[in-house]
Amino acid sequence: MKTCQEISQLASRACDEKIGLLQTAELTLHLMMCQNCRNFYENNKKLSEILKEHKNTHRHSHIEH
Ligand SMILES: [Zn+2]
Repeated sequence: MKTCQEISQLASRACDEKIGLLQTAELTLHLMMCQNCRNFYENNKKLSEILKEHKNTHRHSHIEH
């Protein structure tokens, strides 16, 4: 079993890069049982989506000009 600390590291990596199938399974399983890590993961995902959107918006406006 992974600890919450390990899961939070995994969660932040999962948002930035591809993680393995086994790690995804461990992450998902832990998130189902642990509210704290679920909140952390959700926040991380939102943050990385905002960052991605920001990059896209920037690139998009760059093309238009
Ligand atoms: Zn946890």
